[in-house]
Amino acid sequence: MKVYISATLRTFFDKTAQTEIEGKTVGEILKGLTDEYPESKKGLYDDDGKLRSFIRIFVNDEDFTDVSRHKEKLSENSEVLLLPLIAGGKPSDSIISDERQKEISIDEKGIERFNKHLMLREISVKGQKRIKAAKVVVIGAGALGSAAIQYLAAAGVGTIKVIDHDKVELGNLQSQVIHGARDVNRPKVASARDTIRNIDRSIEVIDENQQLTAENAIDLIDGFDLVLDCTDNYKARYLINDACILAGIPLVFASIYQYEGLVSVFNYKGGPCLRCLFPAPPSPGLVPTCTEGGSISPLGGIIGSIQANEALKLIIGIGEHLDGKLLTFDSLNLKSRVVNIDKDCDCPICGLNKTITEIVDFDYEDFCGLKEDETEIPVEGFTADEFAKRLEEEVPMTIIDVREPHERAILRFPGAVVIPIGQLARRQKELNPDIDTVFICKEGKRSILAINTLREAGYEGPLYNLKGGIEGMKDIIFSHEAGLL
Ligand SMILES: [Zn+2]
Repeated sequence: MKVYISATLRTFFDKTAQTEIEGKTVGEILKGLTDEYPESKKGLYDDDGKLRSFIRIFVNDEDFTDVSRHKEKLSENSEVLLLPLIAGGKPSDSIISDERQKEISIDEKGIERFNKHLMLREISVKGQKRIKAAKVVVIGAGALGSAAIQYLAAAGVGTIKVIDHDKVELGNLQSQVIHGARDVNRPKVASARDTIRNIDRSIEVIDENQQLTAENAIDLIDGFDLVLDCTDNYKARYLINDACILAGIPLVFASIYQYEGLVSVFNYKGGPCLRCLFPAPPSPGLVPTCTEGGSISPLGGIIGSIQANEALKLIIGIGEHLDGKLLTFDSLNLKSRVVNIDKDCDCPICGLNKTITEIVDFDYEDFCGLKEDETEIPVEGFTADEFAKRLEEEVPMTIIDVREPHERAILRFPGAVVIPIGQLARRQKELNPDIDTVFICKEGKRSILAINTLREAGYEGPLYNLKGGIEGMKDIIFSHEAGLL
């Protein structure tokens, strides 16, 4: 019978990982093992001849550690596994049931295609069948999704649903490697689907070219085994977290920003969720999003691949998962950490007294600060054309640029004064309350925050926002600059 020996026990077995031992019961096999590897007696048994308590014996994934089972006759071709408890206890459960795994068959082509998985004893045929039986939803076909989707497809996940409502833009190609130059202006889900089919035509691909909302989220993920959050905004992240908890589906979370990434597994066997970790998102404009802050090209690939790896571990039922843990990775110094995260008893969705029981009742816009506060004085602003006209007519005004230094490096706004939002209140004396002050940022959102910050600080002069930000002004700035030369 085949006997597998876990890595930490191999010192007692001449570093053997796998051996063939004659025997019909666990007792006979243990005897055979100690006969063949006399050193192993010391490792397996204590001074009283009892099996050491940190060792567990599995036969075909069933626990045979208890001595009462050592005389049970084993079926032919059984596989025996010796596992020390310190290495992580019994093999972790797969999120795919045995029944579903058994319904799957792998043909000769599959054996060839997945040969490198079949060689790994922790995966082997059973694991590969679990992968094929698995139904996974990936939300977001951007940088993270590009890597995660392609690896899930290559690994043999049988059903993949991709949800995204964006179209491919030229600027996406720097990191979103699932799309190519020919896909620009096509829906992201369409090119993601094509790429998956190109990897393996037998995969069932479901492409949802729509935005995830509180109304459709549960329906879109219902019946799936696992969800991967590959999105880039807080509203979607909390919505996905909540939908997964209410639908009872584990969630592999990942996020990237500039050079850093985070990965975690939420809602796995009652473990913590996103709200336990971060009860609320930062208010809009406080920190730039990935779109505003940028990210280094391979980062989505690194973090998205870890995400796919976590997904496969959950599906196969191997290894230690990131549930109750958060992985942080810094690509600049290559430092990665795994920190423990606790479940929050007061969590509104997974705690003891849940206040969110229906996601349609929860206002995600308001929670993420995206709603316009009706009690606030509305911010007045100029459109790109109106603003260009004022520039042309040389209307006296102070232009304040609140963008980050790297954003200004890409596109400088001529004649603008640079004041970071954090310094506005302190530096308000630099503004002239007798003339208009116009705030500019990339998309016109952080500039609203800047205006509100100044108002709160008691500034009384006229304040305006450049609607839609500097993005809508590119051509005008270039011609303006040309005129200055
Ligand atoms: Zn929670």
